[in-house]
Amino acid sequence: MNLCDLGTIRNIMQAFGINFRKELGQNFLTNGMVVSDIADSCSQDENSTVLEVGPGIGVLTKELAERYQKVISLEIDKNLLPVLAYTLGDYKNVEIINEDVMKTDLEALLEPYFEKGSVSVCANLPYYITTPILMKLLESRLPFEAITIMIQSEVADRLCAKAGKSDYGAITAVLAYYGIAERLFTVAADNFVPAPKVDSAVVRIKLYKEIPYKPKNEAMMFRTIKAAFEQRRKTLSNALSNGFGELTKDEIKEIIEQCGHRPDIRGERLDISDFVTLSDAICDKIQSKN
Ligand code: SAM
Repeated sequence: MNLCDLGTIRNIMQAFGINFRKELGQNFLTNGMVVSDIADSCSQDENSTVLEVGPGIGVLTKELAERYQKVISLEIDKNLLPVLAYTLGDYKNVEIINEDVMKTDLEALLEPYFEKGSVSVCANLPYYITTPILMKLLESRLPFEAITIMIQSEVADRLCAKAGKSDYGAITAVLAYYGIAERLFTVAADNFVPAPKVDSAVVRIKLYKEIPYKPKNEAMMFRTIKAAFEQRRKTLSNALSNGFGELTKDEIKEIIEQCGHRPDIRGERLDISDFVTLSDAICDKIQSKN
């Protein structure tokens, strides 16, 4: 059964009485080469377990099942369960779980697989919820080998941007704390049914085994990043003055200069190590005032 074939997809959907649910980001892949390339990119280790988010009718799931030891797929739409039982029935190494990934206890679910070997994430993500899913995966601190995701092309640009470039934002800096993101390839909108309005891209994030940055206070570092990008057009000193009411504007300027920057610099010029240094200096200043 070729799950990329439009006729097959239509027949399956008709036979099971289902429609594409736009509100769940259901844009299914129709290009077998792309599906195969994503599955290949996901892990180097054929003994690994793969967590998939949103199998749809199972096109990527099938390719993953053929390459890796075990595939666990979380699908929110219960209408797709009978379809998946039909399309993936022959793959005994696939487990479909009817859950919202945002509500799943990933640690409890994946713990036995981390004990056995490596675990990766691979997904053609629903666009309406890309960033929350990515943040949940990162903040879980689970030692995934890699996270390979298909996302909107412009979001891919943002995740992989270098400091100083216009696409660089809070999410770029936060992601750089956890690992290294690489844009693998672009996938034009006409490789999906229904076709989304914009092109997509596949990004692979290799997570650090041990995070190389050691901020004095991690929460303060995330707060600093958030504040720096809250008002993008503002200088860093103005943005941080708004975000840190406990410090005066002069104190903020002093801290920025002490970290080796001009106070009129903008947040997007700072890479993750700059943010660590800056947030450490902010911590010290706040502590010295208490
Ligand atoms: N993997 C299939 C493919 O590549 O053709 C489908 C990908 S489609 C872009 C996204 C899938 O994620 C849909 O099947 C959708 O129902 C599912 N989904 C949407 N929100 C979800 C959530 N919160 N948790 C789990 N699955 C979700």
